Amino acid sequence: MKTIIEPFKIKVVEPIHMTTPEQREGVLQEAGFNLFLVKARDVLIDLLTDSGTGAMSSEQWAGIMRADESYAGAESFYRFERQMQEITGFTHVLPTHQGRASERILFELIGGAGKVVPNNAHFDTTRANVEHSGAEPVDLPIDEAKDPKNRHPFKGNINLQTLEDLIGRVGADRVPAVMVTVTNNSGGGQPVSLENLRGVRAICDRHGIPFFLDACRFAENAWFIKMREEGQGDRSVRDIVREMFDLADGATISAKKDGIVNIGGVLLLRDDALFQNATNLLILTEGYVTYGGLAGRDLEAMARGFEEVLREDYLDYRIRSTAYLGNQLTEAGIAIVEPPGGHAIYVDAKAFCPHIPPAEFPGQAVVAGLYRIGGVRAVEIGSVMFGGGGHAPPAMELVRLAMPRRVYTQSHIDYVAEAMSELHARRDTLRGLRIVDEPPALRHFTARFEEL
Ligand SMILES: *Cc1c(COP(=O)(O)O)cnc(C)c1O
Repeated sequence: MKTIIEPFKIKVVEPIHMTTPEQREGVLQEAGFNLFLVKARDVLIDLLTDSGTGAMSSEQWAGIMRADESYAGAESFYRFERQMQEITGFTHVLPTHQGRASERILFELIGGAGKVVPNNAHFDTTRANVEHSGAEPVDLPIDEAKDPKNRHPFKGNINLQTLEDLIGRVGADRVPAVMVTVTNNSGGGQPVSLENLRGVRAICDRHGIPFFLDACRFAENAWFIKMREEGQGDRSVRDIVREMFDLADGATISAKKDGIVNIGGVLLLRDDALFQNATNLLILTEGYVTYGGLAGRDLEAMARGFEEVLREDYLDYRIRSTAYLGNQLTEAGIAIVEPPGGHAIYVDAKAFCPHIPPAEFPGQAVVAGLYRIGGVRAVEIGSVMFGGGGHAPPAMELVRLAMPRRVYTQSHIDYVAEAMSELHARRDTLRGLRIVDEPPALRHFTARFEEL
């Protein structure tokens, strides 16, 4: 069948509003051309992020009503813990309020000055937490990942050779963990193969270094493995997921992605001593171990979300929907990071507006243009997000169109493709931007711009 059937029907609806071009112009000016500073009610289709923006199921809402809100030892925690143990095989399961809380706890314990943390590509909060601990984050993507046109099936892979070289150069004692992000968010939502994860495990074993997953999109990654990796097609997603986690010593997870909840995170650990220390920090800053800064109802929603995300009809719909948007853009002549990733389409902004140099933020220009033309909100992943603060400019200037889970229908996506095509037709009119105000870190969230 050609039609991508949504494996659900809609029971609750939320109106969205079209704005006039004049209104959008005013909104852009007021927000200093930073879409993070735009009110959601002024957005028609919000592809800013797939994080915490998913629609929960009737089962998740039912769980919310049933939740146990006891401070200690709540039933909801044990249901959540059991679910995570069953899916991942990890014995130590800590709930946190979101992914970055797991990262903060982990790197406060294993990071520190003089340490180096390799990753296929650090997500922005992961990078910031590694740096905040005093350690140095190093991205080691494979060469194919640097070429947007390259259709390597596992473009999220970490470069095993440069990983080995790095460990040899700085010494294993300075590398507290190797991290691999599945799927690779900053690198285009591209998957990592099982073969690559096994390779990382072997290198970590050889040097006695722990291996951690940034496992925000573990289910989407497993679906790509099932679809693309030799010899994996007959395995269940659940089985592949289990092998991915079995290869690691720990994982940080934002449940706002493949947990299909609006808030929540997880820290998974194998080491008893590390778990004890993480527990102490959790209690210090997040909350008691059986709720970790969340309500019992959040734990119920997570337990069910992590179960539902493993449904193969859901993953088929999910990954095909993303590819559907990517294919429409490609057909309109718009260059994207190929092949389409799991949770988002990444438009190549350098190719979109070659007349705007990286220092004038071509990605931000496309983001502003897309809002202006159709009220669609996207996000820049390029020099705004990763530049500044003495960082070298990133290899790619991208615009991410992230797909909230179970929220938009095919006609919403057709509309987005139409708005992008229209913008592409008028791309010569796009103008670069200049930053007029920026914070010391994570500047993309609050910086203000002026059009040149
Ligand atoms: C979202 C995300 C995080 C951080 O999670 P939050 O819940 O936003 O704190 C970390 N890593 C990756 C790959 C992510 O996509």
